[in-house]
Amino acid sequence: MVICSVCGKNQAIFFQKHSGRRLCRECFINDIRYRVKEQISRYSMISSGDRVVVGVSGGKDSYVVLHILSEIVNPNNIIGVMIDEGIAGYTREDMYIAVRKFCSDIGVDCIYVSMEKILGFSVDRFMKFYLEYAKENNVYSISACTYCGIARRRILNMYARELKANKVVTGHNLDDEIQTYIINIIRGDVMRLAQLHPLSETHSDKLVKRVKPLRSIYEYESTYYAYLLGYTFQEYECPYIVTRPTLRTKVRDVLIELEKLYPGVQLKLLEFLDNTIANILVKPRIALPTCKICGEPTSPNRSICKFCELVEDIKKILHKLY
Ligand SMILES: [Zn+2]
Ligand SMILES: [Zn+2]
Repeated sequence: MVICSVCGKNQAIFFQKHSGRRLCRECFINDIRYRVKEQISRYSMISSGDRVVVGVSGGKDSYVVLHILSEIVNPNNIIGVMIDEGIAGYTREDMYIAVRKFCSDIGVDCIYVSMEKILGFSVDRFMKFYLEYAKENNVYSISACTYCGIARRRILNMYARELKANKVVTGHNLDDEIQTYIINIIRGDVMRLAQLHPLSETHSDKLVKRVKPLRSIYEYESTYYAYLLGYTFQEYECPYIVTRPTLRTKVRDVLIELEKLYPGVQLKLLEFLDNTIANILVKPRIALPTCKICGEPTSPNRSICKFCELVEDIKKILHKLY
């Protein structure tokens, strides 16, 4: 039997590639909790008195983040929000039943909200019209992930405001975070790059601070942690990713290759980018303009937010149809 590199007594069950260590169940769980709590305290992400909305997808990462969070914040002050994106073959209500059970086991309330009901368009319905709009106007269509990402963020923020929460927590892991950093570097989007830093400020009172406690945990570690918690769901990849790979999937593939050659490269990138970007954080606080249509905050130099811009585009198609 292989012995754990940390405690030197239990049987090792997990090989941690970036550290070269073999860990037993207990030492693996301790390592993950330690690293999550280290990020939380280093960047003052969450304190015990916070009221927190957690974006719950039903995937493993949201299980893990909810579980660890419930040890830090009183579960009465945590609300899980599961969003039904309205994607045929992907959105499943049976997942919600399982998520609600998991939440109630750890004493957390969970609500299920429909993107279509709140914003007027599910991902499927939005994409159907957007593809028509793009064809008619001879422009490239945006990817479903663009609309979905904007819509999900908006819903979580709206619910956080409504429920008087002061933090929005998401289950993004290290792989997700590095992909997003690299995408913003490739696009040369310095503002977004800076906003990704855990110490960045929200530049509007209408925006609730978003935090990502799992940002230093590899996806395969989060998967294994979830498995140890008893998470048994089959995760489906979103059909839009499968049919139309995005820049993100390409960046992800490159990073997976790099990680094989240089184990730990994404952790080192995180450390490097966090330290470098800390110097370009936007200070002092700037006041973001308000969207003329919906009244939500929008990016500097915009008068209409990206969400309303997208919806206005497809309204041109809708007017013709109805
Ligand atoms: Zn051990
Ligand atoms: Zn707007």
